[in-house]
Amino acid sequence: MPVAIRNTQSGPTVFTDKHTETSIEWQGKGDVSGGDIQVVPDSLLDNVNFMRVIARGILVTETADKSIEQALSVHRAAWEQKEEAQKRHSQMTIENAEKKDFVSTACIGPSARGTGECGEPVPVRETQVGEKPPLCSKHEMLASQYVVTETEEIKNGEALKQWNRVHVDPRTTAAV
Ligand SMILES: [Zn+2]
Repeated sequence: MPVAIRNTQSGPTVFTDKHTETSIEWQGKGDVSGGDIQVVPDSLLDNVNFMRVIARGILVTETADKSIEQALSVHRAAWEQKEEAQKRHSQMTIENAEKKDFVSTACIGPSARGTGECGEPVPVRETQVGEKPPLCSKHEMLASQYVVTETEEIKNGEALKQWNRVHVDPRTTAAV
């Protein structure tokens, strides 16, 4: 496994070995681009000359954990940046939606299960709440069966409107 080696000197450090034709250069300590850390093959740790440099503390081995941590923190920063951008984007989307004054209402069409209401979310312009029954695309053809009535509930100085389905139920008719 390769080893990460860090330069502790303020200036660049170069390790050359004629026998193995190795030449590795480290930038000064704290180099902004991370040039003060070089990953070298672990066979270099068997090289006597290289170990002398290590023994003098000019170059030190980074613990594997530390380099992994460093790589992870770069990842994390990139991820956080992406996350932040996404958050900003969805906030903008919500703001745009609010400007158009759409309210999401549940479809009042009959449920496919036979009882209750469909419940499919239907975006309705706030100013049109009392003008059109909230029906999803599947149920909008039933619009003529709904009539609006004003409830006793007051919101923003106006009576809340309620849609009710008025249709002749064939079974009821038969019973009469
Ligand atoms: Zn529906």
